[in-house]
Amino acid sequence: ETGGLLLETTRGVLRCRGLLNCGGLQSDRIARMCGITPRVRIVPFRGEYYELIPQRKELLKGLIYPVPDPRFPFLGVHFTRTVHDIREAGPNAVLALKREGYRKSSFNSRDAAETLMYFGFWRLALRYWKTGLEEMYRSFSKAAFVRALQRLMPEIRSEDLVPGGSGVRAQALAPDGTLVDDFLIQEAPGMIHVLNAPSPAATASISIGRAIASRAGQVLGLG
Ligand SMILES: Cc1cc2nc3c(=O)[nH]c(=O)nc-3n(C[C@H](O)[C@H](O)[C@H](O)COP(=O)(O)OP(=O)(O)OC[C@H]3O[C@@H](n4cnc5c(N)ncnc54)[C@H](O)[C@@H]3O)c2cc1C
Repeated sequence: ETGGLLLETTRGVLRCRGLLNCGGLQSDRIARMCGITPRVRIVPFRGEYYELIPQRKELLKGLIYPVPDPRFPFLGVHFTRTVHDIREAGPNAVLALKREGYRKSSFNSRDAAETLMYFGFWRLALRYWKTGLEEMYRSFSKAAFVRALQRLMPEIRSEDLVPGGSGVRAQALAPDGTLVDDFLIQEAPGMIHVLNAPSPAATASISIGRAIASRAGQVLGLG
């Protein structure tokens, strides 16, 4: 529409001056619905956690993180204390067959097909199939998960842990199979699409918010 956009949503039609897409797991689809060709595809990777049982809480006093492998944007399993004083161990990084699929059994045919029909996915799979299989094995085998944790905390035992929650990473994957590990923002007249806002330090990051707000000021005239 002249001088603005007309958005057709499930809650009706919206008129607006500009559009800022921060849709995480759905961000590439939202971009496509806006007529943009995203330079990446979102491929979901589930991260599963265990939690330390209350009787073994004293094993963890702070955070324990590994040295990251620079080939991957995922850090590897680590130990975290949450604001509610839950002591988490994880997450792993397993290919998810559903974008918002928080269980091992989660499956969505459209999501799975979009991943499996993407060249970038097969290029990644060819390069890192062994790591991918190891992650899947660790997802189903608690003993394997515990072995990975013992590299950081040798005294931890399987019986110290109970299953915790999970999350799904919106991993941007380039057509050449590269796991994008930097911010990716695509712009078009009246629109900003945040297609990758990766960890670390992304969650609720004020400086990322400021950077995007400043672009919105310039591109969308919202300053
Ligand atoms: C297991 C796990 C562990 C992580 N650990 C860390 C960490 O330790 N440190 C760190 O910095 N980062 C971490 N991250 C990454 C961090 O969560 C992401 O980098 C960050 O959330 C990305 O922010 P975002 O705003 O782009 O997307 P999101 O936080 O995913 O927000 C997207 C929002 O868009 C909404 N949405 C989607 N589609 C639509 C639609 N069609 N209409 C309306 N709304 C829609 C969603 O509901 C959601 O609220 C972790 C992620 C996972 C999964």
